[in-house]
Amino acid sequence: MQALRRSEPLIGTLTRAQAVQAIQTQTVPTGDNQQEECMLAQGPNVAAPGADGGTLNQLIWGFTRSQAVYVTAKLGIVDVLSDGAQTPRAIAERVGADERALRRLLRALTTIDILVEDRHERFAATPTGELLRSNHPQSVRAFAICMGAPLVWRPWGELCGGIQTGTPAFDDVYGESFFAYLGRRPEQAALFDAAMTSISSGNLPAILAAYDFSGLTKIIDIGGGRGTLLQGILEQYPQASGVLFDLLPVVTEAHPIKASSVAARCSFVGGDMFRAVPPDGDAYILKSILHDWSDAEALQILRNCRQVIAEQGKLLVVELLLAPSNQPDFTKWLDLNMLVLLSGRERSEAEFRELYAIAGFRLTRIIPLGARAIIEGVPI
Ligand code: SAH
Repeated sequence: MQALRRSEPLIGTLTRAQAVQAIQTQTVPTGDNQQEECMLAQGPNVAAPGADGGTLNQLIWGFTRSQAVYVTAKLGIVDVLSDGAQTPRAIAERVGADERALRRLLRALTTIDILVEDRHERFAATPTGELLRSNHPQSVRAFAICMGAPLVWRPWGELCGGIQTGTPAFDDVYGESFFAYLGRRPEQAALFDAAMTSISSGNLPAILAAYDFSGLTKIIDIGGGRGTLLQGILEQYPQASGVLFDLLPVVTEAHPIKASSVAARCSFVGGDMFRAVPPDGDAYILKSILHDWSDAEALQILRNCRQVIAEQGKLLVVELLLAPSNQPDFTKWLDLNMLVLLSGRERSEAEFRELYAIAGFRLTRIIPLGARAIIEGVPI
């Protein structure tokens, strides 16, 4: 028997009986039994034929990884490592954390390809972990923060209620709908808009490579957020002018595009897309908009576009498409995210075709962009 050191794992290498005894006596015996470790740390062994207890276990513990990645992003741990490996003490000082608690987080992160520890107990980011650095060109830091923050995390904790009632868990948790809530909380809105911007920056090259905007003269981005996509398009197509349309507080904060070289060709309009959208565009882009809303609401937005779109105009909806069941399909998880946060849903190609037809558009092309697609339509 040796005395318990609180910083050591309590049950990692013990039999169940030893662990119980250890907990009772606050000591750790020097036993070693990996199988029992699994039982204790991971729950009962599933022996049914064809059952994959290991995978199920990973799923059960999935939330721990998710929250660990969030904390890494929020504290800016990878930013601190941009000059190379650092000790837990140095990292703790820079990010403002308890050194011993942080060390436990850091070593856990070495098991999921975020960090590596060297022989001198210093931690560095892996190439995957690097994506959590603020200034990485493909940074997902803002997105990781948004997903793990109470804004999204708390409603996900109420998924069960949402499944039982069919209403957004967000509304139950926060007492109002998602965008109404953001409208009165600039800090939370900034968190969300930054997350959307980080995704839009990532999608931009694929959209520019997949779609030829050269025939278009007035491109209107409905719910265009801070304008990352519109700016990218206008930079590439000097013949085009643009309109960034979103809720007024969002458009007000669209600083990078307003300060960019395309600002002179762009107008910035705050408004409510359920009332009306800016007129006379020959392209209406709706990226990650329709999936926020129910069919009735999505139809209202599409009808408002239909009323004002130029005769030869193009409707360009950018969304993920639902695949049939029984195959890997991330869209089904985003669909649940819509259920938790909003009244929206992800849709299949057939469902988009039907929505378009009801709103007065014909679906002309599906242009794949990796995970997403441009769903092109024309007015009929
Ligand atoms: N198109 C952007 C943002 C998608 S997030 C992108 O792909 O990154 C959804 C956007 O819809 C947010 O920017 C939000 O502010 C905007 N939005 C929500 N309700 C709106 C409304 N009633 N009228 C206009 N924009 C709205």
